[in-house]
Amino acid sequence: MQQDMIDNKPVKEKEGLDKKDKKYVIKRKKRTCAFCTKGAAPISYKDDKMLRRFISERGKILPRRVTGTCQKHQRELVVAIKRARHVAILPYVIE
Ligand SMILES: [Zn+2]
Repeated sequence: MQQDMIDNKPVKEKEGLDKKDKKYVIKRKKRTCAFCTKGAAPISYKDDKMLRRFISERGKILPRRVTGTCQKHQRELVVAIKRARHVAILPYVIE
């Protein structure tokens, strides 16, 4: 945790500098949560096709800032991915 705090500080400062480049900020598309827009689509650990969209090529769970998933659904997603790994639907690591 403490290391994260230390790592975050220089990153935030860098982002602040980049924001001066407004064109870059405007060009970025607004990402919406895939589960909120779909409506009633429950996150299931059995749906490996869907879950694979939220893991990296190494098998790591992608952060919210990358996928655009909302806080509520990211929490559900993380549980679903971990369950899927446990029952060997998803791999823990892809080598
Ligand atoms: Zn959502």
